[in-house]
Amino acid sequence: MKISRLELIHVTMPMVSKFESAHSSRSERELFLVKLTSSDGVTGWGECAAERIAGYSAETIGNAAHAIRNTFGPKLSSRSAVTAADIDGLGVGNPHTSFARSALQQAVLDAELRTVNTSLAAYIGVSADYVSPGVVVGMQDDDRALLREVDGYIADGYQRIKFKIEPGRDVQVVRTVRNHVGPRFLLQVDANGSYRGGDTQSLILLDEFNLAMVEQPLPPDDLEGSKLLAAQMSTPICLDEGIATAADARHAIEFGAGSIINVKPGRVGGILEAHRVQRECAALSAGCWIGGMLETGVGRHANVVLAADVSCTHPGDVSASRRYFATDLTEPFELIDGRVEVPTEPGAARAPIPEVLKRFTTSVERII
Ligand code: MG
Repeated sequence: MKISRLELIHVTMPMVSKFESAHSSRSERELFLVKLTSSDGVTGWGECAAERIAGYSAETIGNAAHAIRNTFGPKLSSRSAVTAADIDGLGVGNPHTSFARSALQQAVLDAELRTVNTSLAAYIGVSADYVSPGVVVGMQDDDRALLREVDGYIADGYQRIKFKIEPGRDVQVVRTVRNHVGPRFLLQVDANGSYRGGDTQSLILLDEFNLAMVEQPLPPDDLEGSKLLAAQMSTPICLDEGIATAADARHAIEFGAGSIINVKPGRVGGILEAHRVQRECAALSAGCWIGGMLETGVGRHANVVLAADVSCTHPGDVSASRRYFATDLTEPFELIDGRVEVPTEPGAARAPIPEVLKRFTTSVERII
């Protein structure tokens, strides 16, 4: 496919409630979409799920837009043909561009699949019709607010709840939630790398609460510490922030730093690498599931499809659109009877609704 036009559409979406993690707190989601038009006149969409400030990743929305504007756009405009797989190659010599490449790759793949009238599910071999998603509860000011949010999601039909912990706010809050939901409800926690090696005693105490996993307890580069902690805990350790490729996933699992991988297309450079991480996990009999970056329906489309892959051993963070946005950019993803339908329409992204996109657009820049 020859790219005849490429635009970045910058958007700010109001969120239904403030979302807080160990990295950041926000009540708006800033992002940009990649809108690509092929020389055949087919439009493809991609979403950049990076964040406004560095924290989860060193790559921010600003860095990602800069990479597309100054490096990837000029490279792609000179090529007579571009495939989704070619976008993987752009990472060579361009570190910290995973989110930029992921957005570009989704747009190219979207146009490719629309051209041949094929769904992403058919393309990667997903046959499930539905996924049963989990949901993330952000940090709350007090336990009462946290339990109110938990109750709301259980009433909505979510099958698994994940909530954030950090040093000094762990054992007590996990006990409170576990006592509230009962012994069998699927619970997991995410520390976003906020603990340090000498600081893990309270994590070991979490073993008594029957958690499905503790996600990224230590900083992403501390595989040694994570391995030591894994040997001391019965609760499985899941890795997130530090896994940038399928090779990283294999190394970390074989090293013993964790037994489950949270897979996010943005963090690993795109849908194709995300699926390779999934296959690597399956080959190693490790766990995997699909995480979320507060995506709109454009990015959520791919996440829901990947979450329906047979490699996934745990529910993903692929909640309904209204968990985050009163009005999504696309037709919303809905939770019905505890399940989200796997999209089967052609393409790798759900296209935004033009009037809604216009309402939330802050600027548009033409790259090609
Ligand atoms: Mg995480």
